[in-house]
Amino acid sequence: MVGDMDRELIKKLQKIVGNGHLTTAAEELSCYSYDGTGRIFQPEAVAFPGTPEEIAAILKLANEYRFPVVPRGAGSGMTGGSLPVAGGLVLATSRMNRILELDPDNMIAVVEPGVINGDLQKALKKHHLIYPPDPASLKFCSIGGNAAECAGGPSAVKYGVTRDYVIGLEVVLPTGEIMTTGVRTEKGVVGYDLTHLFIGSEGTLCIFTKLILRLLPRPETKATFLVTFASLPDATRFAAKIMAAAITPSTLEYMDRTAISVVGAAISPPLPENTAALLLLELDGTGAEVEGQKRRLLPFLEQQGIAYRYAVDETERDHLWQARRSISPATFSLRPHKISEDVVVPRSKIPDLVQFTEDLARRLDLTILTFGHAGDGNIHVNIMIDRHNARELENGNVARKRLFEFVIKLGGTLSGEHGIGITKAEFLPLEIEPRALAVMKQIKQLFDPANILNPGKIFPNAS
Ligand SMILES: Cc1cc2nc3c(=O)[nH]c(=O)nc-3n(C[C@H](O)[C@H](O)[C@H](O)COP(=O)(O)OP(=O)(O)OC[C@H]3O[C@@H](n4cnc5c(N)ncnc54)[C@H](O)[C@@H]3O)c2cc1C
Repeated sequence: MVGDMDRELIKKLQKIVGNGHLTTAAEELSCYSYDGTGRIFQPEAVAFPGTPEEIAAILKLANEYRFPVVPRGAGSGMTGGSLPVAGGLVLATSRMNRILELDPDNMIAVVEPGVINGDLQKALKKHHLIYPPDPASLKFCSIGGNAAECAGGPSAVKYGVTRDYVIGLEVVLPTGEIMTTGVRTEKGVVGYDLTHLFIGSEGTLCIFTKLILRLLPRPETKATFLVTFASLPDATRFAAKIMAAAITPSTLEYMDRTAISVVGAAISPPLPENTAALLLLELDGTGAEVEGQKRRLLPFLEQQGIAYRYAVDETERDHLWQARRSISPATFSLRPHKISEDVVVPRSKIPDLVQFTEDLARRLDLTILTFGHAGDGNIHVNIMIDRHNARELENGNVARKRLFEFVIKLGGTLSGEHGIGITKAEFLPLEIEPRALAVMKQIKQLFDPANILNPGKIFPNAS
């Protein structure tokens, strides 16, 4: 794959997207050269197409001239998916940011890929509807990026992830054909399920240009509890047990002592001094449903002598959520870099996972914090390092490898929502057996014979 885009090619691209919608200016390219990993790969040009037809023309040109095309939403990905590792063109979807249809009667929305998740949530509010996938990055990440990573969020424990809400698509294939998949109906089983093949394909099989989304009625009310524990094993055992007690929280978010230390000052009133871990537990539904769940939850907490408090109003609830959503950026107050993993284990194995990471941190003399979606076993393990410190970098990489091996041993998976991208590609064979890996590569080859679309991602040595 070569990445030299000469003047003639740039002119052709400019003609496709129109004046002002393509840049090769170094200072602008640098804004499209990084993502949530902090790694940097400079593209040769960035295009801002406005229609599926323009994207199709770009991909046809890319096949003719053999240059890489890398789709990019908001660039908040945590595994390098939007980085142009082989050079070429970044295709930014920021201009394609319209909500095309809101159909409250059939509870669907049709959106362009550049719509920001949080903007869609706001637009749905006045119709008393929600689009449940709610990544902590919802204020800035795009629906196209969410679909490409199959993003999840705190409410996944009750409502599921992006895959459960995208029912149909319009896509441009890597060879430049426009294609639609899926349905606009609640059910549909006609032919192979291409929609769900594309969800989570990390921008390697197609570019989404329209997404048909399933919506749900907005829950009437919520009750938010902050549950604190004096010991880490108590918290993780509780998280595993609560789901088995017929209590269905809409979120069950966990923070260990170190995670609390980086955002704790934002939590008011202050936490009990002996807090070693906490759970942010939310119930939602109709008033009667929430009251019913509370009647189960409170005795459950009280019988076990577990300390908790209740968010008395919307302001206190927002405060708690703001603290939870700021953990990821706040971790940089500990060390300048991190190896950020989003492994998933069966819920009953969360205590083993957390104990393992504590032992690992001690043995390798590293700061490792754990937080995240305890309700579905998706724990964010953040290994904090200074990349310029050779010992920390080496030990961080050792910690990550041992973590992955242990997760697989527990019957878990390497990623619950961030995907593989470039950061985990070398570990794919730990989880995916050789036959399945070969089938995945054949699928990529079928859709993208010239390896134009987002090369160098997911598969080990894929460039
Ligand atoms: C502070 C913070 C908190 C986060 N919290 C969460 C969380 O709770 N849950 C979670 O799941 N993730 C989380 N993330 C990760 C990230 O926000 C998600 O992966 C998100 O889905 C990426 O969206 P984006 O628009 O930024 O995509 P980008 O980073 O721009 O791209 C991500 C991938 O999608 C592809 N892509 C983008 N648009 C398209 C398109 N139109 N067609 C095809 N492929 C496309 C890209 O090529 C790339 O492979 C968090 C990130 C940060 C920085």
